[in-house]
Amino acid sequence: MKYAEIIVDISTQALDHIFTYAIPKELLSEVHVGCRVVIPFGRGNKEHHGYVMRIKNQAQYHEDKIKPILRVLMEADLVEEQLIKLAYWMKEQYGSTLIQALMTVLPVKAKSSGKEVRYLHLEIDDRKGQALCLEYEKKHYVGKLRLLEAMRKDKVISKALVKHSLHIADSTIKAMLRDGIITERAVRTYRNPPTGEAAALPAHRLNEEQQAVCQSFWKDYDAGIRNTYLLYGVTGSGKTEVYLQMIEQVLLSGREAIVLIPEIALTYQTVQRFSSRFGEQVTVIHSRLSKGERYDQFERARKGEVKVVIGPRSALFVPFAHLGLIIIDEEHETSYKSESPPKYHARETAIERARLAGASVVLGSATPSVESFYRAGKGQYQLLTMKNRAAGAILPEVSIIDMRKELEAKNFSMFSRKLHSLLHDRLAKGEQSILFINRRGYASFVSCRKCGYVVKCSHCDVSLKLHGKSRLVCHYCGYEQVMPVTCPECGSSYIRSFGTGTQKVEEQLKKEFPAARILRMDADTTKGKEGHEKLLTAFANQEADILIGTQMIVKGHDFPNVTLVGALAADMSLFEQDFRSSERTFDLLTQAAGRAGRGEKAGQMVIQTYQPEQYSIVTAAAQDYEAFYKEEMAYRSLLSYPPKSHMLAIFMASEKQDKVETHARLLAAFIRPFCTPKDKEHCLKLIGPSEAAVYKVQDIYRKLLYVKGVYYEDLVKVKNRVEQYCMEQEIVKDTRVYFDFDPMTMY
Ligand code: ADP
Ligand code: ZN
Ligand code: ZN
Repeated sequence: MKYAEIIVDISTQALDHIFTYAIPKELLSEVHVGCRVVIPFGRGNKEHHGYVMRIKNQAQYHEDKIKPILRVLMEADLVEEQLIKLAYWMKEQYGSTLIQALMTVLPVKAKSSGKEVRYLHLEIDDRKGQALCLEYEKKHYVGKLRLLEAMRKDKVISKALVKHSLHIADSTIKAMLRDGIITERAVRTYRNPPTGEAAALPAHRLNEEQQAVCQSFWKDYDAGIRNTYLLYGVTGSGKTEVYLQMIEQVLLSGREAIVLIPEIALTYQTVQRFSSRFGEQVTVIHSRLSKGERYDQFERARKGEVKVVIGPRSALFVPFAHLGLIIIDEEHETSYKSESPPKYHARETAIERARLAGASVVLGSATPSVESFYRAGKGQYQLLTMKNRAAGAILPEVSIIDMRKELEAKNFSMFSRKLHSLLHDRLAKGEQSILFINRRGYASFVSCRKCGYVVKCSHCDVSLKLHGKSRLVCHYCGYEQVMPVTCPECGSSYIRSFGTGTQKVEEQLKKEFPAARILRMDADTTKGKEGHEKLLTAFANQEADILIGTQMIVKGHDFPNVTLVGALAADMSLFEQDFRSSERTFDLLTQAAGRAGRGEKAGQMVIQTYQPEQYSIVTAAAQDYEAFYKEEMAYRSLLSYPPKSHMLAIFMASEKQDKVETHARLLAAFIRPFCTPKDKEHCLKLIGPSEAAVYKVQDIYRKLLYVKGVYYEDLVKVKNRVEQYCMEQEIVKDTRVYFDFDPMTMY
């Protein structure tokens, strides 16, 4: 006998329950994972629809208690079937509960709030209307009369207008509804991307490189070949135009497209380029949408009302029925990895979704992730290359400044002499500059200069950061306190902030360039829904000469008047204890260089660093991705890091310190035997247990194990065994165990 695990009716409430049903012999060939079936449910054995999640040979409990599946539904919803299969795949590949995976993949059903517009319709003809008016007049029904007169003119009026402009009471409307004189109907309006405001942008005539890239895609696509392509094109090479024309082809073939863009780059400009080409067929999904609005957009996609969806990672699960193409722009961005279970990567998940849907995937970047370039090299992805800037603009001139030499020359400013003189020059010419520090944690911490005491968060293992003049904030848990006036340890009043935050840059800049108009963009200045966008718009409108910020400001924004970009302390991200830190530094600096001189004017970039020889800085300055890739791969191979090898992080967290310590040791002991190689190829390596980089966060203690192996599947097996072991040993009772495959950050 075979059994099927089934979830009943997909709604968020029901997801927690998985039921086992028997598969009757005659249905064996029809029942498969993801298909819809009819089952008897509950005491009354009412017929319900359900989805098959898994098929197995054994049932956990008494076989005679198990009910059989009644029949298989033929009109299965293909998209839902695909998404369920995808959820199952994600659960397996990344480690999570099935429910977590399903919740990630299936749209959460939610009513949209306040997006419904209600209209009143006049239901009587004009002769009747006239008679009724006379009657109302006689009876002194002023409200009814006013409404009826208005309705006779317009026939359909929005209810809100009736109430607020005509000042008609609810009771009056109700009475007329009751009499059948008017009816009320709701119309759903959907939030649409901005269209029409800017002039429609015409398609570019593709240049030779773009043409070649599109040709190889089109040729495959028309021949029914579905593939994963890596579009490696330098900044400004015109990747967006290529995406647009690929999508055009896909729409012509009657299929739909999903475009993933990192949330941070999901700006008005970007969206405008898509909607000015495809108009109403495009919709945007972003994190500011309410659940209801989001659900509406997903429904529109399911019904085929829109054909192109643009959005961050989660837009991958838009229920298009005829998906033809998934584009992932800036595919190297770390935000494509989910931070909560299942910790999926949008890249592989897109490839799996595309496989299930019969679609192609295009990964685009000026600085492809080392993973993708490696796979392209092995032929797993097809490499498409664009080496030149489309609009003919030249790459900026980049200089590396050794900050140690500045100190030797008695320059104590945070701006090198070169950067200072270039800033001066740009101000004189009326051109704009961007200065950035390259990470958020670089904000200043507070310590006592006498005894060395550092003000730390009382719930986490980290120092508090100074915001404004006197607010101390924990970047891990949000805990806040006021800055102490004297040292809590020794009582000294020499308690000061250290480090250079964006605020300090601003202060120093004001001192050195009093006449400059400065905008600062960081967590403090971008509070509120559109704070971000407002600042960027102001800068784009040239309301300021210099924009200061963190790495946020150099990603995805296009300011034609910017001709100078300064990276202050470019090497900060190199100090992170992380095998990806060089890659991140290279990406950031290359992207930043791309911001300089996007218009007609040539640009310059200054990289200030204490490690001028470090390869990620040198190769970024030379804008030489391939040189970087070579060095980076050598390092990763040497230390068996991804993509040369795969890595599984097992992360344990508990309020109880002794529990997490014991369980970490237990798990290590459990895993170790798998690491003795039977054959060398499948040899695994266990690292740890060790404390997470920040051991305590929000009063929770965190331990880690890492397992490395050449084959991803071997690590999946380890995960499955650990999962089971944790259940059996009841480890899960007081310790949460998470999995992260090929992690983006070290914990
Ligand atoms: P990328 O995304 O590769 O950094 P963009 O798509 O933003 O590059 O294109 C850079 C600039 O080049 C844009 O202003 C775009 O309008 C322009 N552009 C793109 N393709 C062409 C073309 N074929 N001819 C002229 N200009 C182009
Ligand atoms: Zn002190
Ligand atoms: Zn904290």
